[in-house]
Amino acid sequence: MPNSAEGPPAPGPAEPCPCGHAEHEVPRTMRDALALAGHRTAIEHLLTPVALDPSRWLGVHRCVRCGRHWAEDSITSGHADLFFVYPVHTADPRAWLAAAHPLQPDHLA
Ligand SMILES: [Zn+2]
Repeated sequence: MPNSAEGPPAPGPAEPCPCGHAEHEVPRTMRDALALAGHRTAIEHLLTPVALDPSRWLGVHRCVRCGRHWAEDSITSGHADLFFVYPVHTADPRAWLAAAHPLQPDHLA
């Protein structure tokens, strides 16, 4: 499903994967997180869970196309929980998840 809000995909350097792993990074602001929530919807069909921690609403997903990993986190926006993803670089998703901590959107500017 195309995401018309994001416009045409930017041609990344040797990054043909539609998940855009190299074109995104850990959100630093609420705006970033909201954009990545939209991106999650756009690439959801490419992601498969590899490590989940339901007690913390955290997980690591793998792109079925390029094999790279995306962390999934959530923020509470108004009265709804909003899930977003951001790229992570790890060869061991379970270890990454064990060491991860949820981003704190209250601290996002
Ligand atoms: Zn990918």
